[in-house]
Amino acid sequence: MKSIVIHAAKDLRIEESAVEAPGPGEVEIRLAAGGICGSDLHYYNHGGFGTVRLKEPMILGHEVAGHVAALGEGVSGLAIGDLVAVSPSRPCGACDYCLKGLPNHCFNMRFYGSAMPFPHIQGAFRERLVAKASQCVKADGLSAGEAAMAEPLSVTLHATRRAGEMLGKRVLVTGCGPIGTLSILAARRAGAAEIVAADLSERALGFARAVGADRTVNLSEDRDGLVPFSENKGYFDVLYECSGAQPALVAGIQALRPRGVIVQLGLGGEMSLPMMAITAKELDLRGSFRFHEEFAVAVKLMQGGLIDVKPLITHTLALADALKAFEIASDKGQSMKTQIAFA
Ligand SMILES: [Zn+2]
Ligand SMILES: [Zn+2]
Repeated sequence: MKSIVIHAAKDLRIEESAVEAPGPGEVEIRLAAGGICGSDLHYYNHGGFGTVRLKEPMILGHEVAGHVAALGEGVSGLAIGDLVAVSPSRPCGACDYCLKGLPNHCFNMRFYGSAMPFPHIQGAFRERLVAKASQCVKADGLSAGEAAMAEPLSVTLHATRRAGEMLGKRVLVTGCGPIGTLSILAARRAGAAEIVAADLSERALGFARAVGADRTVNLSEDRDGLVPFSENKGYFDVLYECSGAQPALVAGIQALRPRGVIVQLGLGGEMSLPMMAITAKELDLRGSFRFHEEFAVAVKLMQGGLIDVKPLITHTLALADALKAFEIASDKGQSMKTQIAFA
């Protein structure tokens, strides 16, 4: 079987490796679709991010879906041929945080395609993937591409849970890449009354409108585009900060009303904060990282037609064109979500 392996920045190879057999409680999946995520792109373009560096070759990918090809011993509820979305979240189930119901904070997390620990956790961009049955959520009725969107959608559902009460709220989303646009869908589904999206790119804002943003603000055309929202101590109840850029966070904070909630999703490295505004407006600053149980919810919402991610899937390329797919995905002027078709 072939897999997509990163060796160093810009050194991506399609390599041949042996197929494993599924053990007890595991299934073998014939991969159908894999979405390229921001973290994959960091490994591809820069060999890592922040202090996380590639120290050995690693299979990329964690946004995947495919068809069950073989069942290990004791697996029930899945049948050969089923389309499944595969959660990359693999907490140990035994550490303190797992036992406290916070599996996304697992000490021994084995999230696919991560160079944080060493040896690195190999990813899921491979023609045949052996996974635990408990990672698989049946995705019948969805296309493989939609099923592979369950992962980034879960990130934004988790963020929406972190944001708290959403019904009737005014929401600002800064940064309209895949996570920002999916945040718009998640916030709307949770009951947001008004959603404003801000970005530097008119193209990204077009996607924001396509998935339901009520209004968009182009911050490259109008640097002060959010200033009117900061009058009278602010306008928004919730900020989804998805850009990881300090100017967006600062402008968003000014536009939040007292007791508003900032949910930080963008991973842009360290930033300094307007702490006076946070203090005086009694804002809540909340991080959001990965997800766990939201994964099955993501599949359900898509199956029920309650969230439509299709407008965000802009490119699908064959496995043989993986390198081209990574180049397209790296070009925000072209791609929203680029996926690789494995079969
Ligand atoms: Zn992802
Ligand atoms: Zn754990």
